[in-house]
Amino acid sequence: AIATAQHFTYVFYNEIDRQKLLREKDMENRMHLALGDDEFVIYLQPKQRLEDGEIGGAEALVRWIDPVRGLVPPDEFVPFFERNGFIIEVDLYVFDRVCAMLRRWLDEGRPVVPISVNMSWAHLRNNDFLEPYDRIRAQYDVPAELLEIELTETMVFANPELLIGVIDDIHRHGYRCSLDDFGSGYSSLNALKDIDVDVLKLDRAFFSDEDADNEREWNVISSVIDLAKKLELETVAEGIESIKQSAMLKEIACDMLQGYVFSRPIPIEEFEALLSSGKEE
Ligand code: C2E
Ligand code: MG
Ligand code: MG
Ligand code: MG
Repeated sequence: AIATAQHFTYVFYNEIDRQKLLREKDMENRMHLALGDDEFVIYLQPKQRLEDGEIGGAEALVRWIDPVRGLVPPDEFVPFFERNGFIIEVDLYVFDRVCAMLRRWLDEGRPVVPISVNMSWAHLRNNDFLEPYDRIRAQYDVPAELLEIELTETMVFANPELLIGVIDDIHRHGYRCSLDDFGSGYSSLNALKDIDVDVLKLDRAFFSDEDADNEREWNVISSVIDLAKKLELETVAEGIESIKQSAMLKEIACDMLQGYVFSRPIPIEEFEALLSSGKEE
C-alpha cells in the first residue's frame, strides 16, 4: 500500500512539473511576438494619501493579455522571465509606456502624479542598467522626479553591497527609489541603516487578513512607520483591504495606502478618469 501511495505521489508531481514545463516552453515561443503585438498591457494601481484621501501616485503593473489564455497575472510569467532574462525587455516596455503616458498627461494639461515601476534584479547584472531607462526618459522628455523605481526586498538579502550602489546610481540619475515588499522575507531592520531609499513599501504580510484588533500586530506596524519617519522615508502600506486597516494607518501617520480598499489595479483610461474626477471637486 505504501509503495502504491509513493508511486501516485511521484506521478502526481511529475505531471505538475510536466505541465509547468510545457507552459513555459509555450511562453518562451510566444513572448517576443507577444511584446511586438502589444499583448503586454499596463495597469495602474492608485496610491492613496492618507492625510487627505487624494491620489498621491500609482504603481504600473504588467499583465499579459493572451489571445488564448485571456488576462494572465504577472505571478504566472514574471518569475519565468526573470530566469530567462526576458523580464529586462518587459520592464523597459512598461517604462516606455509609462513615459509615453506621462508625456501625454503633460501635453494635454491633465493632472499628473508620480508613477512607480518594478525593476527586476535581472537588470543589475549589467553595470550600465540605467542607460536604457535614461534613453527612454529622454525620448519622451519626462522629468525624472515623476518616475520611481521599485526594488524588492529580496535584493537586500541577496547582495546588500550591490544594492547600496544601485540605489546610489538610481538617485544620481534623478529617479526616486523605493524598497518594495519590505517585511515579506528576510530583511532586518538593521539593513535600513544602509538602504537609502526614498520610500518604504510595507508588504501585505504585515497586515492580517481579518481586520481583527490585533494589538501586537499594530504595535509592530506603528513602530516600523515611526522608524521609517526617523529615517525620513515615505511609507506606503501595501495590500490594504479593509476600511478599519485604512483608518488605523491614518492614525499612526502612514503616508500612503495601496490596496483593494481604495482601488484594484485598473486600465490607464480608468485611472485617468479617476484622477480627473478627484481634481475637479
Ligand atoms: P508588487 O510589486 O509587490 O505589486 C503589488 C501586488 O499586490 C500587485 O499584484 C497588486 O495587484 C497586489 N495588490 C495590491 N493591493 C492588494 C490588496 O489589497 N489585496 C491583494 N490580495 N493584493 C493586492 P500583481 O499586479 O499581480 O503583481 C504581482 C507582482 O508581480 C508584483 O508585486 C511585482 O513583483 C511583479 N510585477 C508586476 N508588474 C511587474 C513589472 O512590470 N516588472 C516586474 N519586474 N515585476 C512586475
Ligand atoms: Mg511593486
Ligand atoms: Mg510589493
Ligand atoms: Mg509583492
